[in-house]
Amino acid sequence: MTTSNTKAKDFIREIIDEDLKKDKYNGRVQTRFPPEPNGYLHIGHAKSICLNFGIANECQGLCNLRFDDTNPIKEEEEYVQSIKDDIQWLGFDWDNRLFFASDYFDQIYDYAIQLVKEGMAYVDDLQADEISNYRGTLIQPGKNSPYRERSIKENLELLKRMKAGEFADGEKVLRAKIDMTHPNLNMRDPIMYRILHTSHHRTKNEWYIYPMYDWAHGLEDSIEGITHSICTLEFENHRPLYDWFLEKLGVYQPQQIEFARLNITYTVMSKRMLLEIINKGIVSGWDDPRLPTLRGMRRRGYPPQAIRNFCRRIGVSKVNSMVDIEILEHCIRDELNKTAPRFMGVLNPLKVVITNYPIGKVEELEGINNPENPSAGTRKIPFSRILYIEKEDFMEEPPKKFYRLAPGREVRLRYAFFITCQKAIMKNNEVIELRCTIDPETHGGYAPDGRKVKSTIHWVSAPQALNAEIRLYNHLFTVPNPTGQNNVDLKEFINPQSLEILKKCKVEPMVQNLKPFSRFQFERKGYFCIDPDTTENNLIINQTIGLKDTWAKIKKK
Ligand code: ATP
Ligand code: MG
Repeated sequence: MTTSNTKAKDFIREIIDEDLKKDKYNGRVQTRFPPEPNGYLHIGHAKSICLNFGIANECQGLCNLRFDDTNPIKEEEEYVQSIKDDIQWLGFDWDNRLFFASDYFDQIYDYAIQLVKEGMAYVDDLQADEISNYRGTLIQPGKNSPYRERSIKENLELLKRMKAGEFADGEKVLRAKIDMTHPNLNMRDPIMYRILHTSHHRTKNEWYIYPMYDWAHGLEDSIEGITHSICTLEFENHRPLYDWFLEKLGVYQPQQIEFARLNITYTVMSKRMLLEIINKGIVSGWDDPRLPTLRGMRRRGYPPQAIRNFCRRIGVSKVNSMVDIEILEHCIRDELNKTAPRFMGVLNPLKVVITNYPIGKVEELEGINNPENPSAGTRKIPFSRILYIEKEDFMEEPPKKFYRLAPGREVRLRYAFFITCQKAIMKNNEVIELRCTIDPETHGGYAPDGRKVKSTIHWVSAPQALNAEIRLYNHLFTVPNPTGQNNVDLKEFINPQSLEILKKCKVEPMVQNLKPFSRFQFERKGYFCIDPDTTENNLIINQTIGLKDTWAKIKKK
């Protein structure tokens, strides 16, 4: 017997530890991640993946990947493939345990026949609106359908004809015969099968009836020998039904455990809403870096390890709540700080001419690739007479506490020289070029006489610089809880500044060697990632996240 071996135990891991101690399920732990292939995965799913695969790993158990493909209307093969890719990208593996609910359709049908034969299920002719009227409310009991007392023989006959495609969509349903006055509405004769003359992405045109989630899900778990069926809180009220079906059928019974779904500020987490945002053209697709989808996060440069750390850090709870997006951003920075190689890139270039540096001379300076990781080594950075610096690193008339470049002031060019601004060239009231000198004695960025400067700025040598398009991202919504308001058009809260495209950026030549999705830091500007749309002539870079801007903080004070 092994117990899960982690520092902070959440309530699910505690339950599982107890079960292992009691040798429930013969010391086995088997979980599953059961996505419906009707959209791409988002970070909410990542929480569930980390939990299910994580627990299995910790307990030397197993975790299945099972597509819950019981609704052919919204499901597609494209989603199956993307979900598999995303789980692997996140760092988990289902080995040979890839399953589909549709593989069990025959078996699930046989179980339905069993319940009909035992008088525990019946075919109902009521229409959808009637069924809903008959169901009653939280304070009013429901009413029995006039078709509830059909004979077993007639029910069997009708169910077979439903399966054979003899009835139109909605004409009949199969219902469990439980109790129309049950205080839990889910127990008031829930629907097991509905008629759908729709082709399924895997079973094609074999079926005219499809099982409902509540009917199918427990059976899927039971067939696979799942021990702990972990799901989100909205299924708590469905647990009695989950148990009822399995008990009445007399089959192996896993236990369902519910936890609170993940919500994050300034974004939305439902596939339906994400699809709406995509279809309205507000973002470019499922992999738009502004979305909380795993595809979007990958394109934006979020490391999978950081997402896993985040999921572990926020823990598991029984109460719904909203997680501050800054916690996620902290995890991203924390991971990238350790792992991202550093480069220099100028987002808004200002030309600088070093008047005392020879025309045509190029020298190579040495830059540190990652101060957090000495084994990352160093690289060569070309230096020449014409450079670019960041526009915001120069001010004609610097206010107090602005320590960067200004007329007559000396600062350090990172890894290079001390530089002094001699003159700013203006055009239409705007600085368009600086004339500066360097002190050749300060090669490498330190003065032999020990004099200090108050700031270090980044730069790129103009002749060798690469042109790049850099995309900056901001929250997709202007309010922390866009779905908190009822009946409001989501569009109202879309942040018009969620994407800013800078087309004239200049970056150091080593960036040329980076492959799509490579993550790195531009010193002083944040973390970035090569966009997969990059071509030989068009370098596109996404900003993953900024560094904390200390200047912005000072300004606010
Ligand atoms: P959505 O509401 O976004 O459409 P869903 O629950 O319908 O999500 P499924 O494909 O059915 O999506 O989800 C697969 C698994 O992921 C389920 O076990 C579900 O409980 C879990 N899951 C989905 N969203 C979240 C979330 N926000 N937080 C935690 N787990 C989630
Ligand atoms: Mg679902």
